[in-house]
Amino acid sequence: MVLRTIGSPPPPGEHGVRQARIISRWRLKAVQRKLTLAPSSRYCGFPRGDAVPITVSRKLIAYVAGVQRCGSPWSCPPCSSVVRHRRAEEINRAVEPHLAGGGGALLLTLTLPHGPGDALAPRLNLVSTALKACFKGSGWERRRDRLGYVGSIRSVEVTWGEDTGWHPHVHVLVLFDRQVGEARAEDFRAWVYGRWNGFCEDRGFGTVHPVHGVDVEVVSTSGDLSRYLGKAEGGAWEVGQEVARGDAKRGRAGRMAPFELLAEFVDTGEARLYALWMEYEAATFGKSAIHWSPGLRAKLLGDEPEESDEELAAAEGLSADVLVQVLEDAERRRADVRAGTAGRRLAEIENAAAMFWFMTLWRGGPSDGKERSDHTEESGHAAPVTAGGRGVRYRAGGRGRRAGARAAPPRLAAGVRTHPG
Ligand SMILES: [Zn+2]
Repeated sequence: MVLRTIGSPPPPGEHGVRQARIISRWRLKAVQRKLTLAPSSRYCGFPRGDAVPITVSRKLIAYVAGVQRCGSPWSCPPCSSVVRHRRAEEINRAVEPHLAGGGGALLLTLTLPHGPGDALAPRLNLVSTALKACFKGSGWERRRDRLGYVGSIRSVEVTWGEDTGWHPHVHVLVLFDRQVGEARAEDFRAWVYGRWNGFCEDRGFGTVHPVHGVDVEVVSTSGDLSRYLGKAEGGAWEVGQEVARGDAKRGRAGRMAPFELLAEFVDTGEARLYALWMEYEAATFGKSAIHWSPGLRAKLLGDEPEESDEELAAAEGLSADVLVQVLEDAERRRADVRAGTAGRRLAEIENAAAMFWFMTLWRGGPSDGKERSDHTEESGHAAPVTAGGRGVRYRAGGRGRRAGARAAPPRLAAGVRTHPG
C-alpha cells in the first residue's frame, strides 16, 4: 500500500464536501497565520514533538493530536470550526431535553446600528453592556416571572457589507420553563426593541432598525430552525448550530462572513480587505464568542465540566471510534501547515485509511458479511500495518472498539454522518 498514490480526488458526496471545507480552511490558515499578531495563532497547527499522531475514526474522519492549538473561535479557520462545532453540540445537548420536557425558548437576534466606515471595536465592546442594560429593572423582572425565565445563551457574530460596513449582531437564546406563544413572543420583541433602541440612542450609536434591528423566533423543537440550513455549510442544523456556528454561516444580503473576507483577500490581494481583516482580528481578540448566563450550564448539563476554547480545540476527536492511527513526521506536518496543504494531507490520510479498510475487508475473501466483519475485527488487533509515505506508520484498530462488534464498510458517497466542521 503506497500512501502517496492514494487520495488525490476526494470521493464524491458528503465526505468529499467535508474534505473540501477542511482543505480550504487550512489553505486560509496558511495566510491567516502570516497576518495574525497573536503568537498562539501563528504557531497553531505546528507539531509539539517529533511525531504527530493522526487518528482516523470509523466515520473516516482524521483527527490530529500533538499539535499546538490557538482555540480562537473568531479568526483561526480550523480552530473556530472545531470550537464552534463543539459549542453547538453542547447547546443542543442542553436545549433538546429542555424543550422535550415542555420548556420554551425564544431566539433573539439583536443588531447594533451601523454604517459604512464605522469602527467595529466600539460596537463589539458594547454588546455585553447593552444586553445587561436591557435585561434589568422592574420591566424585565415582571416579564421574567410571567414567562418563567430559566437562563440564556448568547453568541456574538460579525459580518461585513459594502453598503452597510461592519454588521455586529448577537443571538440570544432565551430559555423559559414553559412554551412561549407567538403573541407573547411579539410582545417580548416590542419590549426588547424599546430597551435596545433606547440604549443605542443614549450612547450615540443611532436608531436601531425598526424591522431588522430586533428579531424574535419562537423555538419549540431543536429542529425548528432547519430553514436556516440554506445559509450554513451543510449538515444537520439545529438550534445549537444557529447560535454557535457563526464560522459556518454564509453572509446574507450582500454581506460577507469574516472567513469569506479573508478568502477574498487571498484571491484579490486588495489592501482594503487586508485592513478589514486585521481590524476584525484585533476587535475580536480575546473575546468570548459564546456565553451562558450564570448557573444555566450547571442547571441543564449537570456537572459536565466546562472546557476552554483551547481545550476544546485540542480535544478534537478524543472520543472517536478509531479505525487507524498514523504517526506523521513532524517536519512533514510543519511544511504542510506552512504551505497550506495540511487539510489536503488529512484528506489523503482519510482516503488511504478508507482504502486500507476496503483492502482488509477484501482480503477476508468470503462474501458473507458476518465473516468479513469478524475478519476485520481480528485484523484490527493484528501487528501494525506499514504504509508507504515518508515517516508514516499505520496501526489498525484501537480504543473504543467493542469485542465482537461488527465492522460496517465505510460508505463514502452518502449517509456518512460526518463532523460538519
Ligand atoms: Zn488555531
